[in-house]
Amino acid sequence: MASVPFYFYFIYCIFGLILPKIIFKRILLILDMKHTHCLIIGSGPAGYTAAIYAARANMSPVLYTGHEPGGQLMITNDVENFPGYPQGVNGAMMMADLQAQAERFGTEINLGVLIERVDFSVRPFRAWADNGDEITADSVIVATGASAKWLGLPSEKRLMNIGVSACAVCDGFFYRGKEVAVVGGGDTAAEEATYLAKLCPKVHLFVRKDYLRASKIMQERVKNTPNIEVHWNTEIQEILGGEHVDGVHVINNQTQEKKHIALEAVFVAIGHQPNTQIFKNILDMDETGYLITKPGSTYTNIDGVFACGDAQDKIYRQAITAAGTGCMAALDAERFLAAQGVI
Ligand code: NDP
Repeated sequence: MASVPFYFYFIYCIFGLILPKIIFKRILLILDMKHTHCLIIGSGPAGYTAAIYAARANMSPVLYTGHEPGGQLMITNDVENFPGYPQGVNGAMMMADLQAQAERFGTEINLGVLIERVDFSVRPFRAWADNGDEITADSVIVATGASAKWLGLPSEKRLMNIGVSACAVCDGFFYRGKEVAVVGGGDTAAEEATYLAKLCPKVHLFVRKDYLRASKIMQERVKNTPNIEVHWNTEIQEILGGEHVDGVHVINNQTQEKKHIALEAVFVAIGHQPNTQIFKNILDMDETGYLITKPGSTYTNIDGVFACGDAQDKIYRQAITAAGTGCMAALDAERFLAAQGVI
């Protein structure tokens, strides 16, 4: 059989491989669009860790932080449980360090810019930002996190971080030996109350109904913890304090009886909302909006799109677990791009 002439390979390379890429890049240039091997949406520990790994793997990642750069840790004073910080670290400082580390290896960071819409139906994937950017990407890492739900009281906002928190594991230690409260009746509230009961002499659990929505086992734990006092049908009307929390006004929503209770911290545990609305009907998610990834990986239902951090984790929700899955997402994306011959 006659062998294929050498010039055939040459023509094949020009027309089959190189030209389409050149033409594609030209079109992007004309349309004033950006292209990246790896688009990272979100900027908590998951997004920044993904960026560090992706940048070091020559994937030239482009990261959009969203409107709250740094995510939930920006409202956390001291992080004392992230390994490597024996004296603890301020949440905002930690995020600034992670951002600087991601930038050091060449991540393009778009601060305060929100990705509003995506099209994952064809590759390259496309995304549109609220600053007018239109970007195409060979792979996407979703790290949009979840936001704690709040009661919506002005006093809650005013005393945020000085006694009001949404994370007992993060902030409970600062109130050891003190009387505290947890609001909510789900698994998170039950878990936070039992966690705090190991540190605090008394934990008030304010439940707005006359039953707990938490799983049976968590209900049992609450019941069997003597220093948790459950206040049924009870809602906080106001959180009191100046420089720090020193009490709450509560009301029984059945009897209308009002009470003042002196305490030093309020942990709001009424649920989280994963920031995944823009992926609805695109990425698989559970009924509450948490993205579904293939077990043991960060693969979503779309090849080339990976999810990490709290957007896909309703159980652990820690900075360290978010960072861990961010690393996994970058490694998964790198392997995907290598298999596609992109990098
Ligand atoms: P949930 O939505 O399950 O529960 C929220 C609780 O907060 C409910 O009791 C709700 O009351 C109450 N609530 C909501 N809004 C207010 C308000 N404005 N004022 C007072 N109370 C309010 O959220 P969770 O975070 O507890 O759990 C989310 C999911 O994560 C669940 O599926 C849970 O099972 C899971 N999870 C699992 C864990 C584990 O497996 N270890 C740990 C933590 C969570 P109402 O009942 O009246 O609506």
